Amino acid sequence: MSNTAEKYPQRDEGKRFDVIVVGAGFAGMYLLHRLRGMGLTTRLYEAGHSVGGTWYWNRYPGARCDAESLAYSYSFSSELETEWNWSERYATQPEILRYAEHVADKFDLKRDIRFERRVTRAHYDDRSSTWTVETDRGDRATAPFCVMATGCLSVPQEPQIAGLKEFAGNLYWASRWPHQPVSFAGQRVGVIGTGSSAIQAIPVIAEQAGHLTVFQRTPNFSVPACNAPLDPAFVDAFKANYPAHRRNHRLGMGAGFGDLQIEPHPGGPALETAAGKSQTEIRALLEGYWRIGGANFIGAIADTMLNPDTNRIVADFVRDKIRAVVKDPATADALCPTSHPIGTKRICVDSAYYETYNRANVKLVNLRADPIDRVMHNGIRMKDGSFHELDTLVLATGFDAMTGALLRIDVRGSNGASLAQKWAAGPRTYLGIGMVGFPNLFMITGPGSPSVLSNMLVSIEQHVDWTVDCVEYMRKHGHRRIEPVPAAEDQWVDHVNEVANGTLFPQGGSWYLGANIPGKPRVFMPYAAGVGVYREICDRVVANGYEGFSFGA
Ligand SMILES: Cc1cc2nc3c(=O)[nH]c(=O)nc-3n(C[C@H](O)[C@H](O)[C@H](O)COP(=O)(O)OP(=O)(O)OC[C@H]3O[C@@H](n4cnc5c(N)ncnc54)[C@H](O)[C@@H]3O)c2cc1C
Repeated sequence: MSNTAEKYPQRDEGKRFDVIVVGAGFAGMYLLHRLRGMGLTTRLYEAGHSVGGTWYWNRYPGARCDAESLAYSYSFSSELETEWNWSERYATQPEILRYAEHVADKFDLKRDIRFERRVTRAHYDDRSSTWTVETDRGDRATAPFCVMATGCLSVPQEPQIAGLKEFAGNLYWASRWPHQPVSFAGQRVGVIGTGSSAIQAIPVIAEQAGHLTVFQRTPNFSVPACNAPLDPAFVDAFKANYPAHRRNHRLGMGAGFGDLQIEPHPGGPALETAAGKSQTEIRALLEGYWRIGGANFIGAIADTMLNPDTNRIVADFVRDKIRAVVKDPATADALCPTSHPIGTKRICVDSAYYETYNRANVKLVNLRADPIDRVMHNGIRMKDGSFHELDTLVLATGFDAMTGALLRIDVRGSNGASLAQKWAAGPRTYLGIGMVGFPNLFMITGPGSPSVLSNMLVSIEQHVDWTVDCVEYMRKHGHRRIEPVPAAEDQWVDHVNEVANGTLFPQGGSWYLGANIPGKPRVFMPYAAGVGVYREICDRVVANGYEGFSFGA
């Protein structure tokens, strides 16, 4: 991997570009491709050694997509769509990373990327209307435009557990996994966390480890992936109709996750509401979705995220499933989420997660009942004095989501205004794309856009296209500066809150709200009205001459 860095060793010293992009995940890669297509000089800085972002960093065992592969892929090139063949319904991390590398090679992206460069500062100069960006390797470059493609889930959350640094065994972060294979054979392994990553990793680790102890603070709802190799005939039929599928993903009312199963859905058409339906009808519908697997389960009844009664029915169904699978009643009880409505934390998609707790070598520790006292050099001591001896500890403790990566950069806008100050009480944006006081700075899937509530590839492509079209428009019309007007930003922030408050999402105590980070303001960050509605709004803004933005010369 470090070959990549050696290939691009030069430091930028005061170089000038048309656009500077931060981050070489799927967002940054597509940006680079589009900007180049417009003939713009672009420099992209990336902290990692290569492309792929999320899929470069998150190499833990069992890591895979929970959106279906055929939907979680770029749509901008029909040639790419046709030539690339996903092997499974839900692609593994190595396969997605191979795809990212393939895209980088196909479109010759790496020559404009500087790897192993973490951007530390981005400062706007009003007089020259340019951004100056600096990295931890001493690069310094300027451009009239700066685009933050830094990722919504790219900053791991370090848990505040006493003694963690004293652990003398193997310590792994799910989101910073080593590039070399890790063996758990015969070891006593502990996993802290039971979010999406842990739910994927635990079944795989359990198969290898001598003993696995899972330390759970909050149980999450998980639905079976029902992953399987993709049937070539299905893929051919799907690809033959790719444009229509893509259109559905972009314009759908929901998350753009896909409509990959045969239509009509074998579970039956989704219900608008559970009201007026019999228990038997509802259970049969949910059973159908459960058997097909995947996150679309949450869409079986359309008002699940709006109506507490419907939500309870769906949550009870899943809790019954957990109790039916997990043989030990106390473990099953501890695994049943009761503290949040289903779907208000990102629904997990698993392969034999609950079944894993029936293994003789797996133990669940419920931290709500039995909290950790401290980590010792050889294991974890609990508050009740009991001790779990461990050779290896895996931390799957989530991310400082949506704002974390941006706030780790010293971003200063017009008149030296600091982003950290602007966002002190929570993120404020217009459309999740731009911010008052930060001219010519764009965010891809920023707070205030559907982002993490969607199939991210759908949202990324939309934001990249919007941003690049905007830059093109400005060049064509001789505008040097764009910035949202305060009223538009205020109204958008209110609207995002209003939409969230009309749903059950704020009840989730989730990372969507920043609730996993001590001291982070509790603001529901993504826009919950769906990718289709959001896209219409963004398109209307453009059709009305970039309504809500002001241009300057
Ligand atoms: C384990 C996991 C599983 C996921 N599964 C799904 C899924 O199934 N479906 C889905 O839709 N989404 C999923 N996501 C969300 C995922 O992040 C997006 O789908 C997508 O990969 C985001 O692409 P991105 O380019 O916006 O950000 P990222 O992939 O996060 O890339 C951002 C890049 O910016 C770099 N960066 C950040 N700050 C700096 C800096 N200061 N200087 C230089 N570089 C910087 C990072 O190193 C990173 O490489 C998952 C996320 C995780 C963590």
